[in-house]
Amino acid sequence: MNKKDVIAIDGPSGAGKSTIAKKISELLGYEYISTGAMYRLIGLLAFENGIFDNDEKIKIFCENVEKKIELHNGKIYFAGIDFTEKVYENKVSMLASDISKRPFVRKILGRLQREIGLKQKSVLEGRDIGTVIFPDAKYKFFIDASPEVRAKRRYEELKERGEKVEFDSLLKEILKRDENDSSREIAPLKRAEDAIYIDTSHLTVDEVVDEIITHVRGDNGNQNG
Ligand code: C5P
Repeated sequence: MNKKDVIAIDGPSGAGKSTIAKKISELLGYEYISTGAMYRLIGLLAFENGIFDNDEKIKIFCENVEKKIELHNGKIYFAGIDFTEKVYENKVSMLASDISKRPFVRKILGRLQREIGLKQKSVLEGRDIGTVIFPDAKYKFFIDASPEVRAKRRYEELKERGEKVEFDSLLKEILKRDENDSSREIAPLKRAEDAIYIDTSHLTVDEVVDEIITHVRGDNGNQNG
């Protein structure tokens, strides 16, 4: 198989994928693509347009949005407007998890993710990058951490952004999203057999980044020499 110049980073909510993927993309000069931001955007827009529970209308909506979504430098734009701050508000997390179960949403966003990922060397992070979107990625990692550690990280992140959320409700939400994401029929959260597993519970961001970069550079070295 002709492997693609893609670094696939999958894992559950709050494992630190975004922070790690962003750093790696900066260090290696790759484009950073958060596929979660895309599900968040569709969930948010469907909700704001009052069509969240109407599959037919969401389908029509999705068919028309493809060309309006742009991702660049860690930001997500819809029809030229920057939605990055809005999609990462906590209330959007469950909307994204819910909308991502629908097959037509996954089909359209999946196609778009592959198209964007092939335009340049890319780091894509999500739940199904190494299994479904880029099974042919050159590098695959599965980033994990205990639910408590993930809830704590999410808590700190939201606090920093000025959002007040109870730790216990965040932990419950993380467990619910784990269940949603792992049990859905299509493209469930699952480690690809050839992905390198990293438990980040007791590691710093820099330690995880170093481990990934070492793998990628090591592999490149072998290929070149
Ligand atoms: O990564 P993030 O937590 O921002 O993703 C929000 C939600 O989008 C996840 O809980 C998951 O349900 C969904 N998602 C997905 N497939 C992806 C990325 C995200 O189903 N590749």
